[in-house]
Amino acid sequence: MSRRIAALIVAAGRGQRAGGELPKQYASLDTSGTAALARAVDAFRAVPLVDTVQVVIHPDDAALYRQAVGERRLPPPVAGGATRQQSVLAGLEALAVDPPAIVLIHDAARPFVSRLTIAQVIAALAVDDAAIAAAPVADTLKQADADGCVAATTDRAGLWQAQTPQGFRFSAILAAHRVAAGADLTDDAAVAEAAGIRVRLVPDDRDNFKITSATDLVRARLVAAGTASPDVRCGHGFDTHRLEPAGESGRALMLCGVAVPAPWILLGHSDADVGLHALADALFGARGDGDIGAHFPPSDPQWRGAASEHFVRSAAERCRADGFAIAAADVTLICEQPRVGPYRAEMRAAVAGMLSIDVARVSVKATTTEGLGALGRGEGIGALATATLVRRHAG
Ligand code: MG
Repeated sequence: MSRRIAALIVAAGRGQRAGGELPKQYASLDTSGTAALARAVDAFRAVPLVDTVQVVIHPDDAALYRQAVGERRLPPPVAGGATRQQSVLAGLEALAVDPPAIVLIHDAARPFVSRLTIAQVIAALAVDDAAIAAAPVADTLKQADADGCVAATTDRAGLWQAQTPQGFRFSAILAAHRVAAGADLTDDAAVAEAAGIRVRLVPDDRDNFKITSATDLVRARLVAAGTASPDVRCGHGFDTHRLEPAGESGRALMLCGVAVPAPWILLGHSDADVGLHALADALFGARGDGDIGAHFPPSDPQWRGAASEHFVRSAAERCRADGFAIAAADVTLICEQPRVGPYRAEMRAAVAGMLSIDVARVSVKATTTEGLGALGRGEGIGALATATLVRRHAG
């Protein structure tokens, strides 16, 4: 079956004005390494009306291309020429082997083209022979003199910035490009105009900018971060400590950072706050960062009698250092005695303080085991905890 609509993505530029060692279309926009080119490809593949996506690359960039497109199944890339115009012509000639009815020509350095813009350009081609994404000039335009000062103010009325995609009837734009070969035209609409083709302007949104400068690349990474799915992690922790009579120890029964009046204490190397130990393990677990024993070995005398609050604060700090916010912490204490209810609010507030988060994000609950097992016999106290971490970018 003949393809109806082809996208031709031009990624053959050498431009390294955006900084770094890579041509800008291969610059990664997020920490998982998604290249601008891959985002542009995905934008067109997400539009069901687009039947095929053909990329034109610089002959030296085959390895970069393979890395950028990854598992995406695309036709083999076409080698471009020395100029953008030559690269587009090479792409059109490759498509001409099985010519589509319509071609949408797009710059790989515009990774944020929206599906709506692509669809609107396609829709315009139902009526017009050519249609391009474009934005009306919003800023006042100044003519500069040789000194870098304003020589004149130019009327911006009726002025537009041409973007891509630029859509055409395939046979017409191929013929126009063949005729224009050797000219120095900076977009395909200019090639069409030279051939007398009327070009429709399709208003676009401001995210469809072209990555040209280092500042553009920073902006692109901010836009990519804003559109990315958040990185969400959940960790759980479990702990038990044995109870013994408080006797003359002078120690308090510590639960979730609160000294609970009771005739017993929890046995342990630190203050044995079983709820905080489970919570620290949940925080470490969410990031695959070992456990409380690895970070605070019981064999280390500095943790003898230590306040477990220190372990939780340290675990939370490590999360924040990785860019994570703690979205929720939930602790369940498992015991027959003491009664936790009267201290729950105080425990929640204490844990929220250690985590530096709103108390609404902290839960402390308690349950019994209905008298079953060692915890049911009151020989110790157990605790379960979960921690949910969120950050805006994937790592
Ligand atoms: Mg413990």
